[in-house]
Amino acid sequence: MDVMRDYVRSVRPDVMFAPANGCWGYAAYDSQIMPSLEGYRGDFLNAWRKICDEEGVRMGLYIASFNGNWGPPEKRGYYICNPKGEVSLGGACHNSPWAEEYFIPFCKEAMDRFRPAAIWFDGTCPDYCYCGRCKARFQDLFGKELTPPTNANENARINEFAETAFVNAMKKISAALKAHDPKIMLCFSHAFTDPWLRKAGDYADYSGNDSCNTASLKTAQFDATYRSTCGVPSNLWIFDQTIINQDADTERFPTFHLRPRPLNLILAEAACQLAHGNRVTLWFCANQNGSLDHDKPVVGKRLAEFVRSRAAQCVGNESMANVAILGSQADNMRLPNRSGGGIWGLTKGLQAQHEILSMNHIPCEVVHDDTLAERIARYDLVILGEIEVLLPGTAEVLASFVKQGGAVFVIGRAPLVAPPTMVEDKSPTFLGLISTPAPGPSATPWTRSYRRYEDGVVTYVGRLRKTDIDCQVIERLTEPNGHDAGPLFVRAPQGKGWAYWLLAESLSEYVEIPYKSLQPAETEGEKVSSDKRLRKQVVAPHPHLRKFLGQLARIALGDRWLIESDVPPGVEFVVNRRDNDLLVHVVNHVPGYEPERPEVFFDEAPLLADIKFKVRLPAACKSVKALFEGEAISFSKEGKMCQVCIPRLRLHETVSFENVLKEGFV
Ligand SMILES: [Zn+2]
Repeated sequence: MDVMRDYVRSVRPDVMFAPANGCWGYAAYDSQIMPSLEGYRGDFLNAWRKICDEEGVRMGLYIASFNGNWGPPEKRGYYICNPKGEVSLGGACHNSPWAEEYFIPFCKEAMDRFRPAAIWFDGTCPDYCYCGRCKARFQDLFGKELTPPTNANENARINEFAETAFVNAMKKISAALKAHDPKIMLCFSHAFTDPWLRKAGDYADYSGNDSCNTASLKTAQFDATYRSTCGVPSNLWIFDQTIINQDADTERFPTFHLRPRPLNLILAEAACQLAHGNRVTLWFCANQNGSLDHDKPVVGKRLAEFVRSRAAQCVGNESMANVAILGSQADNMRLPNRSGGGIWGLTKGLQAQHEILSMNHIPCEVVHDDTLAERIARYDLVILGEIEVLLPGTAEVLASFVKQGGAVFVIGRAPLVAPPTMVEDKSPTFLGLISTPAPGPSATPWTRSYRRYEDGVVTYVGRLRKTDIDCQVIERLTEPNGHDAGPLFVRAPQGKGWAYWLLAESLSEYVEIPYKSLQPAETEGEKVSSDKRLRKQVVAPHPHLRKFLGQLARIALGDRWLIESDVPPGVEFVVNRRDNDLLVHVVNHVPGYEPERPEVFFDEAPLLADIKFKVRLPAACKSVKALFEGEAISFSKEGKMCQVCIPRLRLHETVSFENVLKEGFV
């Protein structure tokens, strides 16, 4: 109790979140709707409520929508079924009366008891369901039987069917709870996350997720970027503990709680969220008896102070990035069961594109089709990374964007244009770009192809495509023996703009090959011969491929770049606006520690260099200042360009170019 009070007093969270009945976090109050999990205790929610009241802090509830403890057998009808008709405890059927008969009453009961200011729903996402209700409804809508999909068009149909049921259920829940308490703030955790690429709806007040609690700053970076434009205010949870609760439910969730991280990494994650204009919610898991570990108030306080010192200058800032990465809704719909493995493939591809741009210091946004259409006037370049299918509406938006002077950068084959349920081999291609698979150089047409890169370093660029359409060649592929192997990077005119096209599936290459698997083994203390060092460079494609793709993106962007810098890839630049000021956030993603993960490879850690960058401003600026870290920055101006040097970057500095946005620059 003392630690709990100490936490609330020292951290003073805006909303103190605690788990409701049946959620991991271990509340087990006496509910009329859902039986309590065995062994959990119910009294600590009352204790939290009392402390929050006494300390004047609002309380919020975490409620798991997927919780499979729905009571008597007759409630089994709420669960999803597999194609054999067997009940699966993994989720709710959104075509069932689950929302009306179970979930809404459960939430109302918790609201009456604990008077939460906000609810965070975990696990809100659609799923395939083959129950009798779903089958009948599918038959009504489409005149055919609901059976497991056998191809991508059928996948899309079933995904759209599940999608509609899901959104309707969330709307129902939101309307009922807001009628119960008009002030309640609701967040459906996964509803607007990147894997679903769903337009944010007004049934949710904010977007928030614990997905950035992965001890990976790259994931935090991507998540922060995606959410900054997803359509509702964003408030992301950060796991603010370094020491793991020992009596957590590790039998059920063996890895769930095991995410210890040093404070510096937690602060870097918060800095990244703030740089993108997102709010930060502190998250902790109480112990099974509701208690907190003694270090919680200490870590929480440091994090809260850090966030508060920046929030007024950061939260709600509007992104000014002029490059967009499109997450294609049509591709997403065609993936098998999006809550399963397939979807993570799509996310992985988007993350890779974001990583490539961010590590090349090209500020970007990651958007779904609706956001792209809404924000298209802000962009100078749109990246279509190995997209297979584009919605016809999106293809139209992009075609008119290019014809008016914008640029697209197509990686790999040209997307087909069709509704996701009606794709055929002969569907039209985006902008009429047509290509066929090309054999690779030498005797390996089936696999990765390569080009000679700088000074003897060979970079794999992925499976090659070739095209016969009329275009200008910008880069050619060269075999290691010096022979020319045809065009690699081309551009085709489209009205006033250009379609830039990389004739290789470089994104797959970048995503699929684990960097470390390509490194030759080295034993400690072994003297690395120059031959071996060269071999190491030769077989490691990632940093070189990343740099190469960044160079191509810069070619496509032309003189419309926002930032230029040679600093290490782990430094992130975020450009956004606050009133009339243009802000350049510089975030240090190499704070000296990164957990051992094969996909993480920052090139310099810890960061020791000066941070120098050039920024292209919409108007000449009179006043430049650094907002947070107290170092004296130096800068020089040259018309609308400004060169800045930050002598020492700790975690997050923001350089403000004051009043450069006065003239209505969008
Ligand atoms: Zn169903």
